[in-house]
Amino acid sequence: MAPMRKSLVEAKCPIRPGEKCSLCQMGVSGPHDCGLVYLVMHDDELRELYAEQRRAAQPSRTD
Ligand code: SF4
Repeated sequence: MAPMRKSLVEAKCPIRPGEKCSLCQMGVSGPHDCGLVYLVMHDDELRELYAEQRRAAQPSRTD
């Protein structure tokens, strides 16, 4: 029987697009319980700023 391979899923940081979660906030285990992610996503202004930055960071589409 082949040994089981352990697959790890690296959570991406929603605040830093393209980067994996580095657990930079104290006491978190990932984006799902990150207070910074919670604050940004639950504040209308911050969420809109975040969405604008994500749109600006995406490659332009020419279709
Ligand atoms: S702890 Fe929060 S802010 Fe820090 S990298 Fe992870 S998701 Fe992003």
